[in-house]
Amino acid sequence: MKIIMLGAPGAGKGTQAKKIAEKYQIPHISTGDIFRANIKDGTELGKKAKTYMDQGLLVPDELVCDLVVDRVKQDDCRNGYILDGFPRTIPQAESLDAALGQMGESLDFAINVDVPDEHIVNRMSGRRACVGCGATYHTVYAPTKKEGVCDVCGAELILRDDDKPETVQKRLSVYHDQTQPLIDYYRGKGILKDVDGTKDMDVVFQAITDILGA
Ligand SMILES: [Zn+2]
Repeated sequence: MKIIMLGAPGAGKGTQAKKIAEKYQIPHISTGDIFRANIKDGTELGKKAKTYMDQGLLVPDELVCDLVVDRVKQDDCRNGYILDGFPRTIPQAESLDAALGQMGESLDFAINVDVPDEHIVNRMSGRRACVGCGATYHTVYAPTKKEGVCDVCGAELILRDDDKPETVQKRLSVYHDQTQPLIDYYRGKGILKDVDGTKDMDVVFQAITDILGA
């Protein structure tokens, strides 16, 4: 079972990807992990990627795709895998399809965790982090006993810059420009499955397992 996860930043696709990986016993593959592993092991691809990253440049699509394809050829992927954070753009999706095609393979599902922007902005703006110990909370979903004060260490709670509405909006607009076209791309291939990501985490997961099968 070869799956890719789609969804806006903050839609909760990473959490769902982990749960899928656990239930179906397939590796959860994120590009960040692949980069780190290749750089640590000093592979040829890792060395190439590092020269870009050291200069603060984006790793080119072709090289990212080579790294991903190299990863999915490994033994633990023989029963499938779940890709999280790749592909991000149409050119990446096309390179991936071409590379898999050469191996006589193709993706089975593209799961789109669908959450409206305003919902994501609201969710993120409720996050709070402790300035003392780094514990995280949510004003609605995981509130502290006393408002604005850390349960663990008693220090003050703040809304991090990353979670501020204007920052979240910026990330969302990048997502809509670059990644949302993938939804139509995979719909055209007949493998796109939408799930309502506004629901409870467990309800979303149930919807995904209904799609993937028990
Ligand atoms: Zn604290």
